[in-house]
Amino acid sequence: MPVASDVVVLRYHEIALKGRNRPFFVRRLAEHVERLCADLPVGPVSRASARLLLPLHDPAAWPTARARLGRVFGLANYTLAHEVRLAADPGESLARVGDTVLAHLAGQSVRSFRVATKRSDKRFPLTSPEVNRVLGARIQAATAAPVDLEAAALTVGLDILPGRAFVSLEKVPGAGGLPVGTSGSVLALLSGGIDSPVAAWRMMRRGCRVDFVHFHSVPFLDRTSQEKARELARLLAEWELEAELFFVPFGEVQRQIVVAVPRPLRVVLYRRMMIRIAEVLARQHGAEALVTGESLGQVASQTLGNLAVIGAATVMPILQPLIGMDKSEIAAEAARIGTFETSIIPDQDCCQLFVPRHPSTRADPSAVAAAEERFDVPGLVVQAVARTERVCERFLPRAAEGHPSALGHGA
Ligand code: ATP
Ligand code: MG
Repeated sequence: MPVASDVVVLRYHEIALKGRNRPFFVRRLAEHVERLCADLPVGPVSRASARLLLPLHDPAAWPTARARLGRVFGLANYTLAHEVRLAADPGESLARVGDTVLAHLAGQSVRSFRVATKRSDKRFPLTSPEVNRVLGARIQAATAAPVDLEAAALTVGLDILPGRAFVSLEKVPGAGGLPVGTSGSVLALLSGGIDSPVAAWRMMRRGCRVDFVHFHSVPFLDRTSQEKARELARLLAEWELEAELFFVPFGEVQRQIVVAVPRPLRVVLYRRMMIRIAEVLARQHGAEALVTGESLGQVASQTLGNLAVIGAATVMPILQPLIGMDKSEIAAEAARIGTFETSIIPDQDCCQLFVPRHPSTRADPSAVAAAEERFDVPGLVVQAVARTERVCERFLPRAAEGHPSALGHGA
């Protein structure tokens, strides 16, 4: 075997554009990667030009690291690179590179390939096209695979640096977006439905640390919605490592609204109360905006008129990242990020309690104001906040990931 060691090369993209804030973004990204992989034989992370390097001390950890790194916002892509020490003689250097490539291809059938060389060290005596030709001939002789410059099944990447080179055989697409926490903190209203988890995920991808609030009607309804919210928060916490989840008892608020207000206005009033309570929780926990999963016109409460009346219950920004999406697009995204299966489990959602089949599609602001005179809005908000329960969901490596845990850096 050639002299080689492995390192994961992590490339960021969008954050490279962020000028003065760049060191902050990159630091956050590096911290996230280190915490995410703290139980794996990897690290510590170091910086190289426009990329991060994560040494891999045991090749068996790659499948787990590969899967986890796919959930790191801020990464454009990443590759497992094998380091090769170069010799004084360029021919010998390329022989070592070829040995490394072929050792890693052993047992695989290659449909077609190309070599993409980058000379970060221009003093290397062969040009990149010359290196591509030498290495390509060696790979072709060994595998009998054709070269395909346009649509190769395998791209052999080679980066030549002073005294060493990195060989890579696969570029894994990253999650994109911005590192979690670099855009501040928000509180997402998480029902048990399909939409709100996707909305929360989208804001996470834009660099927000997202915490969650769920409203439930226990004891008027059962606990299924809470169990679903908890599972959804756990799934979403895998992308940000930890998240708070607040459970707000909402049954008493609904009971008072039902006593005081005719049916068509109730959904809008429920929502305005949710928004008010969420705003207080957000301020208490340093969040600067609320997030909801509304999509314009999807249901009666999501008309422009109703969204305006609901939004008027707070001065805090309400982010609605799904507002222009179709239900089918949202469902497809939920499936991609892994929340769909949980969201479709039947539950007893608090909003179904005491509401008509056809709620008002255009709640009149003055009728809403008059209705809210009939119950104690501030008192109910204070009471609901006081009775809120809080749990913390943390990303915990799962046995199912297929790698023995407790192999810390020093192990
Ligand atoms: P979802 O699929 O997210 O439940 P939805 O299409 O059912 O959305 P609505 O019932 O109108 O839409 O709810 C709009 C938004 O209000 C939800 O996306 C969510 O952000 C918030 N919301 C609704 N019910 C609850 C709840 N019980 N707890 C927390 N937030 C809620
Ligand atoms: Mg819903």
